[in-house]
Amino acid sequence: MTDIRATLRTRLDAAVGSAQVLTAESDVVPYVTDWRGRFHGRALAVVRPGNTDEVAAVVRACAELRVPIVTQGGNTGQCGGATPDSQGNAIVLSLTRMNRVREVDPDNATLTAEAGVPLAMVQQAADENGMLFPLSLAAEGSCTIGGNLSTNAGGTAVLRFGNARELVLGIEVVLADGRIWNGLRGLRKDNTGYDLKQLFIGAEGTLGVVTAAVLKLFPAPRVRVTAFAAVPDVGASVRLLRELRATLGDRITGFELMSALSIALSRKHHPALPDPFPGHPWYALIQADDSAIDSPLAAQVEQALAAAIESGTALDATIAQSGDQANALWALRENMAEAQRREGPNVKHDISLPVSAIPRFVDEARGALSAAFPGIRFVNFGHLGDGNLHYNLAGPEGTDQAAFLANAPRVNRIVHDLVTALGGSISAEHGIGQLKREELTRYKSATELDLMRVVKSALDPAGIFNPGKVL
Ligand SMILES: Cc1cc2nc3c(=O)[nH]c(=O)nc-3n(C[C@H](O)[C@H](O)[C@H](O)COP(=O)(O)OP(=O)(O)OC[C@H]3O[C@@H](n4cnc5c(N)ncnc54)[C@H](O)[C@@H]3O)c2cc1C
Repeated sequence: MTDIRATLRTRLDAAVGSAQVLTAESDVVPYVTDWRGRFHGRALAVVRPGNTDEVAAVVRACAELRVPIVTQGGNTGQCGGATPDSQGNAIVLSLTRMNRVREVDPDNATLTAEAGVPLAMVQQAADENGMLFPLSLAAEGSCTIGGNLSTNAGGTAVLRFGNARELVLGIEVVLADGRIWNGLRGLRKDNTGYDLKQLFIGAEGTLGVVTAAVLKLFPAPRVRVTAFAAVPDVGASVRLLRELRATLGDRITGFELMSALSIALSRKHHPALPDPFPGHPWYALIQADDSAIDSPLAAQVEQALAAAIESGTALDATIAQSGDQANALWALRENMAEAQRREGPNVKHDISLPVSAIPRFVDEARGALSAAFPGIRFVNFGHLGDGNLHYNLAGPEGTDQAAFLANAPRVNRIVHDLVTALGGSISAEHGIGQLKREELTRYKSATELDLMRVVKSALDPAGIFNPGKVL
């Protein structure tokens, strides 16, 4: 083992330069704990390549020496996918130095970015060119394009633009034997065989290292309207979404649902945030965008919301009158994950269902969980427009929240059984990582798991990429 370590060190130093091979404990620690602080691992080293050739050299060295590679971007993932296990025999391959936007092509409406570019930087580069890169999520200042693609990130604009998967035209990947596949094609039509890039998107670092991508850009919104509505129940929020889409079409880009408790939690940790209509059980945060300069969008949203109040679908509604007001309303929603983290451990779920099944799920899950765990608290929010709920459960007020975590298997069983019975998924946008690996085995069919294993062993026969994750 010592020999392998010494050989590995020599090869890594030669690949990226010794300054980019971190081994001191204080340097390594931030890379071996996940964002939630739930998973802690160990690593032989953290290796920080600066370009694709260096990644390939690192992968070749690790492949020859059979050293596992845990690829990492911004380390904001929610399932422990970027955290090595406790054996300490893997390296963490951090791509954050690969942070160049290689090209913006406005005529082709594409942008080519290296994997380590933070999402916010891609959005900014698009904006500087008068265009929009629509992927948007609360971690956008820290998460990277490589991580976004590897988790097939969703976020707040999926309703209109789709998941990360739908925003990619080409990728560059380093394969398990160190070869570089340059699939950086900026084509909207390309039917030349299997769509290989899609295999690597959502693979959570188990099939290859994504080093760059060609991303789709869209016309920048010229008029943006942010609205906030109180609704009597979840069924009404589904009706509101449908009514707004019927009136405003695909200009509705985001539709977030938040329970009163989620808002209270967000405001507890950020007391300056607004609380437009206290006292209602559920709230919807709505965003509508139009790229046409003179769009009467604000008046149309106002009319649609007035009609919803008139019919009883909504109880009250307001439209942000300035960018600051809109940002404050979005901050209410975006601070929820962080507020929950500060509040202590809770049993988290990132589930998706057909939008039409969400009211039934919320009712039935509440009944079953309250019966099994009296006093359990429901911190529900999510991207309702995409059928995606962050369905988080905390222990009764005033009890030891860490101790409540011991109930996670029983809680998961109730939630995931119901999700599955209603035709849903146990992971909508966060992936599987190490958190949901066992659950995946339980809920995916044997045939589907078999196909996944076939793909894994074809692309990574020695299993060096992110072992113990997903499968
Ligand atoms: C406050 C907060 C809000 C969030 N909101 C959302 C949300 O709305 N929607 C959503 O989908 N997610 C959300 N997330 C989760 C997270 O931000 C996303 O999953 C993000 O896409 C991860 O990017 P990252 O660069 O941090 O990846 P990491 O956490 O570093 O890695 C995630 C996974 O991808 C793999 N990986 C990373 N880079 C590469 C690469 N270049 N090649 C191959 N594999 C790679 C890792 O091995 C790991 O399995 C949120 C997270 C936080 C902290």
